[in-house]
Amino acid sequence: AKSVFEKLQEDRKTLPMYPYRDELLQAVYDHQVLVIVGETGSGKTTQIPQYLHEAGYTKRGMIGCTQPRRVAAMSVAARVSQEMGVKLGHEVGYSIRFEDCTSEKTILKYMTDGMLLREFLGEPDLASYSVVMVDEAHERTLSTDILFGLVKDITRFRPDLKLLISSATLDAEKFSDYFDSAPIFKIPGRRFPVEIHYTKAPEADYLDAAIVTALQIHVTQQPGDGDILVFLTGQEEIETAEEILKHRTRGLGTKIPELIICPIYANLPTELQAKIFEPTPEGARKVVLATNIAETSLTIDGIKYVIDPGFCKMKSYNPRTGMESLLVTPISKASANQRSGRSGRTGPGKCFRLYTAYNYYNDLDDNTVPEIQRTNLANVVLSLKSLGIHDLLNFDFMDPPPAEALLKALELLFALSALNKLGELTKVGRRMAEFPLDPMLSKMIVASEKYQCSDEVISIAAMLSVGGSIFYRPKDKQVHADTARMNFHTGNVGDHTALLKIYSSWKETNYSTQWCYENYIQATAILENEVMVPTGMVKLDWVRSMKRARDIRDQLEGLLERVEIELTSNSNDLDAIKKAITAGFFPHSAKLQKNGSYRTVKYPQTVYIHPSSGLAQVLPRWVVYHELVLTTKEYMRQVTELKPD
Ligand code: ADP
Ligand code: MG
Repeated sequence: AKSVFEKLQEDRKTLPMYPYRDELLQAVYDHQVLVIVGETGSGKTTQIPQYLHEAGYTKRGMIGCTQPRRVAAMSVAARVSQEMGVKLGHEVGYSIRFEDCTSEKTILKYMTDGMLLREFLGEPDLASYSVVMVDEAHERTLSTDILFGLVKDITRFRPDLKLLISSATLDAEKFSDYFDSAPIFKIPGRRFPVEIHYTKAPEADYLDAAIVTALQIHVTQQPGDGDILVFLTGQEEIETAEEILKHRTRGLGTKIPELIICPIYANLPTELQAKIFEPTPEGARKVVLATNIAETSLTIDGIKYVIDPGFCKMKSYNPRTGMESLLVTPISKASANQRSGRSGRTGPGKCFRLYTAYNYYNDLDDNTVPEIQRTNLANVVLSLKSLGIHDLLNFDFMDPPPAEALLKALELLFALSALNKLGELTKVGRRMAEFPLDPMLSKMIVASEKYQCSDEVISIAAMLSVGGSIFYRPKDKQVHADTARMNFHTGNVGDHTALLKIYSSWKETNYSTQWCYENYIQATAILENEVMVPTGMVKLDWVRSMKRARDIRDQLEGLLERVEIELTSNSNDLDAIKKAITAGFFPHSAKLQKNGSYRTVKYPQTVYIHPSSGLAQVLPRWVVYHELVLTTKEYMRQVTELKPD
């Protein structure tokens, strides 16, 4: 019998990439920079680094491969380590924010684009790498765009460094032009015809339409003929769809074949991610509920039907107000085509677009606007400044950000004392840049030195970094959950200090899992809605998330040492903690109005304290908030009383 390893080696040889192995290696040998284009699933991400390793490139340095998404970096590294028959984290590893799964042995390193950007801070010439592959370049994330400028610069003084830019779309000329006419290596795709179906009229409720379509396919088509992939916008939506699907399939009776529901999104616990890659058992069908991640970052085999409601969650930024929000937005034509392509990888496929043909041709943009043109740039500006890049207006951007957004970022960093009047990095700024956090959070940590409460402040920062609402509120236990929540708000001192109290109480129980359950605490990122459908998965997530807060805290503690801030505790002086928070978040301050609303200070806007906040009834005269979330109103979330020095 064949071993698993032998089987994997055979599979590698069936990938579209394989026949081009030698030609590709020759092209890499001949050119310093190469643009590589190939259909999703051809083997770019998993095979190219292995080919280069087999050809000896790892003898003089690591091969680094960037991914825009955390899940993709982890999953691909896991796959490649299997293919190479090594333990994940040894020869093959990954590195994502707050999680480094690499070792001295690592020669193939998958990482988020943001992590490679951070590596520049410690190693401006990337000396430990022999090859850098900027993968999924078409995604044009903020970090990828910045990386372009930096790696392009390095290739000039490191002729031995090989640079690969790989992308799924055929828009390769733009990349080639930018990289001084780098040659384009095309891997001919294997794409089967895809039948596209549009709806006759726009759908009022795309989630429901998606579920109905999935069930129709499942019930009317032969079970063995292929799986279903549904594109949804985020975790909450996926969880809702999962619940409804479970409920409705139960109602179908026993004659209908099994429908295996597989969610996949950025925060999905690792244990559950592997499920989407498991082959579907005979007689059953799989329905994968995915975010954009399945568009190009992850290849899922066996998909025959794609359901595309036509939306994704996208960051948008208003440079005038400095306000950033995550909105459900129509996708671009390029995205729609990537999505439909997912159904035609292994045989002819079908794509159900839950919008009209008119919508597709007339309403959708051709391409997604690069993130750099719709995001807050404070973080990037701080990183670039600490890399010694001062003239940002003349940085070699592939598509420059709006000048207004750059100015806004400079203004914020100046207000936080990270930059001086000349726009140069200050000592505070240099320290802030060490933390892989939003500048306001980094400033809060750096300021904690003065108020001698760094111990408390890094716990708060860790809890905030896990993201979203911390409290879990099952439908049948709302009263219990609310009581548990209010316990942490005793004294109504503010949400940041409540987070601190949660963390410290958990620590006192010696990080007990049971304690989390008993207190209805979770920490998954929930944007619109703090009431969640209780599923087994959520429970898994919530314990894991407290553990994650602990991991993050440990790392922040290490970084404190690096910037030479002593770990000092001042837990009884809440004013000191509030002062540190205010030092970071004063750009997010708001003043109480007569009617109980608040007015933000810098760019006046009416906002409210989120009802889940411990201060919702207290209404201090001045507050600072962590973030704004728009639901029925513009709400401030994670609020604390403002306390100036
Ligand atoms: P590309 O980067 O060109 O889109 P990949 O290298 O990601 O292609 O994938 C090539 C093939 O490897 C896929 O078709 C799939 O069969 C397999 N594969 C990739 N990742 C995984 C994984 N995590 N688990 C199982 N199989 C995988
Ligand atoms: Mg890939």
